[in-house]
Amino acid sequence: MLMVRNRVYKTDAVVLKQMPLGETNRIITFYTREYGKIAAVARGVRRPGSKFGGSLEILNHVEAAFGRGRSLDSVNECVVINSYKYLRQNLTAIAQGIYIAELVDIFGEDRSANIRLFEILSETLSNLDRYENSEFWVLWFEFRLLHFSGFLPEFIDCVECRSPLDRSDHTFNPVAGGILCPLCADSDVNDQSWVVSVTGLTVLRYFQRSLELTLGQADADISVVDLLDVKTFLRIYMRYIAERDFKSTGFLDLIKFKNN
Ligand SMILES: [Zn+2]
Repeated sequence: MLMVRNRVYKTDAVVLKQMPLGETNRIITFYTREYGKIAAVARGVRRPGSKFGGSLEILNHVEAAFGRGRSLDSVNECVVINSYKYLRQNLTAIAQGIYIAELVDIFGEDRSANIRLFEILSETLSNLDRYENSEFWVLWFEFRLLHFSGFLPEFIDCVECRSPLDRSDHTFNPVAGGILCPLCADSDVNDQSWVVSVTGLTVLRYFQRSLELTLGQADADISVVDLLDVKTFLRIYMRYIAERDFKSTGFLDLIKFKNN
């Protein structure tokens, strides 16, 4: 049976990146609510007075209509839902917004919807738009990105023997995918393991218990010092995933850039 597909389709989307094409066009990469990651041509967007105006700026939350093409789809219409104007007035927030857009570009699959990924992307941009606790919102985004992409490790019980972990520093083994109790850590011979501090583990467990919740500004009021170990943990673990599963040099550059 022939697959019948609509010639045009419409969806909520966030603009992840853009690339010039020819004299007047751009290829725009979107993360959409209903179709996952989509690249489409915006024709004439670089002409003065283009019908798109500023609607295709990176990080805009838009409603866009697409037309199917033989090789690439095209953007027919684009209406801005939120341009995050306060975020755009703050260089740190812009850099953080672009960082999460680049992560979604790497973790998001082409034409495969992941509604939770779309939701945490637009929710995080809204939180960054309010300035406060931006470091927290980026880490909370990274944690849920790992979860909704199927890479989240275990922090509550020992990943090897399932015994509960006491409140202290513990060894993390990325190959086993979680924290080890002291007994299992003694027999752990993996040279990629590292120790995560009790401060870091407390926040990571708080994140893990909160996965089904929507956190607000009051929940995000954790000191930047207490977040340092979480940041270190997430960066090392994401680099490990990058090398193992994505082999993405762009991703490694991105993480290195964030570490500086
Ligand atoms: Zn154990």
